[in-house]
Amino acid sequence: MTVVTRIAPSPTGDPHVGTAYVGLFNYALAKRHGGRFVFRLEDTDRERYDADAEAAILAMFDWLGIRPDEGPEIGGPNGPYRQSERLEIYRTHVDALLEAGAAYRAFETAEELDAMRAEQKQRGLPLGYDGRGATVPREEQERRAAAGEPHVVRLRTPEAGETTFHDLLRGDVTIPNAEIKDPVLVKSDGFPTYHFANVVDDHAMEVTHVLRAEEWVTSTPIHALLYRAFGWSEPVFAHLPLLRNPDANKTKISKRKLDTSVASYRDQGILPEALLNFLATMGFHLPDGREVFSLDDFVAQFDPERITLGGPVFDLKKLRHLNAHYLREVLSVEELADRLEPRFEDAGYAWDDEDYLLDVIDVLRPRAETLQELVDAADYFFLPDDAFAIHPEARKKIAAGQQALEDLERSFSMLDFFDEDAVDELLDEYVRSREIKKPAVMMPLRAALTGTTNAPSVTDLAVILGRERVLRRIGRALGEMTAALPDDDPAAAEAAAEAAAKAAEEAARAKREAAIAKARADAAARRGEAAPEGADGA
Ligand code: GLU
Repeated sequence: MTVVTRIAPSPTGDPHVGTAYVGLFNYALAKRHGGRFVFRLEDTDRERYDADAEAAILAMFDWLGIRPDEGPEIGGPNGPYRQSERLEIYRTHVDALLEAGAAYRAFETAEELDAMRAEQKQRGLPLGYDGRGATVPREEQERRAAAGEPHVVRLRTPEAGETTFHDLLRGDVTIPNAEIKDPVLVKSDGFPTYHFANVVDDHAMEVTHVLRAEEWVTSTPIHALLYRAFGWSEPVFAHLPLLRNPDANKTKISKRKLDTSVASYRDQGILPEALLNFLATMGFHLPDGREVFSLDDFVAQFDPERITLGGPVFDLKKLRHLNAHYLREVLSVEELADRLEPRFEDAGYAWDDEDYLLDVIDVLRPRAETLQELVDAADYFFLPDDAFAIHPEARKKIAAGQQALEDLERSFSMLDFFDEDAVDELLDEYVRSREIKKPAVMMPLRAALTGTTNAPSVTDLAVILGRERVLRRIGRALGEMTAALPDDDPAAAEAAAEAAAKAAEEAARAKREAAIAKARADAAARRGEAAPEGADGA
């Protein structure tokens, strides 16, 4: 038997992490057994339909590297893969059920249904369709339908007894038939309902295993009745645990409490590998206990019977940790550079040589948990020496360390070699000879080189930036400090210092904006040059 699984999203908005989660598990099961993974778009709810969502969901799976074997874009033997293009198939199938008496046409108007519900409420009866249309003779149903009377088609379900289906993770699940109220199969607009289209398609697409979210458990008895009405064998069902908010009540994951949009995680610079790895640990762990593993490892070891049902928590901290681990230890610095370059270009950063880029990334990656954090922390490496911002905290450090900066400026310019050993030795020697504490030198120097107080080691910075830029930056920092303050009017002196700092920051900002605009224009031009000849239609 070929294992066939599917993901069947409804295109109703921003792709959700839950869809990625369920898709991943279905993909893994199919691939583990050399089977097929089908992508089917369940777009029959025309009210909630969102035209952009289809492309967005496909783009999400593409980004994650979960590629369907069959789907709307690539086709396949059992297409079309959009339900809105399969209406004829549903029509034939509903006819077969009507013919067999397993379904009937029901003509109650909205008002009648409201009145029915009101009465049920008043009499304290269970709510739901009471099966009143089931007794209308078939000929009458057909006559009224032919006359154009609006109606739905309902499944005829047993009143007594119970319906059981088997869930791979929960065992037998049984509900009393009294709770199943002749569900609608075809709506008055002619579109099938979720239940009907889902079963017809899973059968037509040869789906052998249905792994889906727990919230569908209550729908599955209806599906089981449908399979039985058609005389089809049922797929294996497994309802995956719902992902939970990290709150005390562990409520179902929701937009209000947590970011559930995959695109948003991508934009923040969560890596697809890390997100997949994270999702794969939701209710599952590898037999060998490893916490960090690739998609291939997951596929090779996936067994749905190992899924546990205790609500897995979507713990953002854990996701960020895992992402940091991929940034620092799993990806090579070259791979990381590939992912970062477009973001650097967007930020308006410019660089001449690839080695510089790799050095910068390597020194910053231990300090970032996401790609975007690394980009945000990297500005001073890419902006001109007089254009990056000097933050107030850094300005204070510079002010306090002016003497050290002046001394180091001189010593750095006299060094024979400007490499790691030489810089280290010089700094050590300086601290020793002046009998000062190391931070009293390092902090002002770091502040001068980066404009921040939170940056990598001073030696790394100095060596990556190179002597000329180090000297220019120290010069700039010292230049922005005001002259010695007059003793007699400290308040006025402070105001003057503040005004000078503001002016310096304004000047730097203007330079920064110009540099960013130029780098962006250059990047656009480079991309333009790289376009194939004649791309503009000339
Ligand atoms: N269209 C349903 C959804 O959006 C599919 C549920 C199922 O897998 O049966 O989740």
